[in-house]
Amino acid sequence: MRVLILAPVGRDARLLADTVEALEIETACCDNAEALITMVEEGAGAAIVAEEALHSSHILLLAKWLESQPPWSDLPFVILSSGGGATPATKARAQRLRTLGNATLLERPVRPETVQSSVRAALRARMRQYEMRSRQEALIRANADLEQFAHSASHDLREPIRSIAIYSELLSMHYGKVLDQRGNEHLNLVRSAAIRMDTLVNDLLSYAHAASIPERPPEPASAKGPLEAALKNLAAAIQESGSCISAGDMPLVRMLPSHLQQLFQNLIGNAIKYRREEKLQVRVAAAKADGHWVFSVEDNGIGIPAEYHEMVFGIFKRLHSGQSYSGTGMGLAICQRIVEQYGGRIWVESEPGRGSIFRFTIRE
Ligand code: ADP
Repeated sequence: MRVLILAPVGRDARLLADTVEALEIETACCDNAEALITMVEEGAGAAIVAEEALHSSHILLLAKWLESQPPWSDLPFVILSSGGGATPATKARAQRLRTLGNATLLERPVRPETVQSSVRAALRARMRQYEMRSRQEALIRANADLEQFAHSASHDLREPIRSIAIYSELLSMHYGKVLDQRGNEHLNLVRSAAIRMDTLVNDLLSYAHAASIPERPPEPASAKGPLEAALKNLAAAIQESGSCISAGDMPLVRMLPSHLQQLFQNLIGNAIKYRREEKLQVRVAAAKADGHWVFSVEDNGIGIPAEYHEMVFGIFKRLHSGQSYSGTGMGLAICQRIVEQYGGRIWVESEPGRGSIFRFTIRE
C-alpha cells in the first residue's frame, strides 16, 4: 500500500513525501517515469504524479500496463496539474493523464490537507480492490473444489452405476427365465434406478460446469447460434410434440455460447415437457433494458403456482413426481447458476393453466 511519488524537482517530491508520511503511510520517490513504471509493477497503493514529469510515451506505457492488469485492479493516480499558468501543451498532457482511468486531478498550488485527503481516498479505494481480489480468489478456489469433486463423482460414481445397469441387464437376459414375475420386476427396478442415478450424476456435473466462466467476459457473440444449437438438440421432442417455436431477433451477448445454449435448451425443453393438451406455442425473445438484455422464453403450458416461483430454481426441486413428468429438478438450478455467474438474474412469471414466462438478464 505504499504511495509512489514522481515529481521532477527533488524538493517537491520530498515535500509530498513528508505530507503523505505524516499520515503514517509509506512512500517511495521515483527519479523518473521509467522508475515509476518499474515500481508500479512491484506493487503500489497509489501514485502521486506531477504532470510535467510524464511525456506522452510514458502515459501510453502506463495505460498499457493498466490494461494488462486483472479486472479487479485499478491503481489510483493523484495528478498534480499546472494550474493557472498552464500552457495548451500542459493542458493537453493533463487531459491525457485523465485517461489513466482512476485519476484525481489536483490543480496547483495544492494545500497539504487536500493531498492527504486525496491519498486517503485513493488508498481506501485500493484496499477495496484488494478485498475484492481475495473474495474473488476464494470464490475461484471454491469453484475449482466443486469442479474437482464433480469430476471425481462423475468418474468414481459412474463406474459402479454402469456396472449395476449392465449386470442387471445380463441377469435379465440370461436368468430372466429362471426368475418368477416378481423377480423380474425387481430386476427392472434395479435397472431403472441405476439409469436414474446416472442421469442425476450427469446433472450434478452440468451444475458444476455452470460455474466455470472465464475471468474476463467473453467477446460479444450473437445469441442466434446457441439458440439454433439448442433447437437442433430438441428437434425430436419438438417434432414429436408438434410444438410451434418462434424467435425474435437475437442480440450480441458476452456469454460463452455453450452456457447460453444450455439456458435455451433447459427452458425450451421444460416448455415442451410441461405443456398442456392444446398445441404448444413457445416464443423466444430478447429486449434491451438499461444496460442489459432481457431474454424471455414464453409458453402456453401448465403454468406454476405463485408460491413455487422461487422454489423451482432450487437444486433437485420438482413440483411433479417422476411418474407424471420425468426429470431431476436440476434444469432450472443450472440455469440460475449460469445466469448469476455472469451477474444476471432469472425469474418466472406464471399462473397455473395460463402458461409461463421465464426471463433472464445478461449485461450488454
Ligand atoms: P425438472 O424439469 O427436471 O423437474 P427443473 O429444475 O427444470 O427440473 O424444473 C423444476 C420444476 O419447475 C419442474 O419440476 C416443474 O414443476 C417446474 N417447471 C419448470 N419449467 C416449467 C414450465 N415451463 N412450465 C411449468 N412448470 C415448469
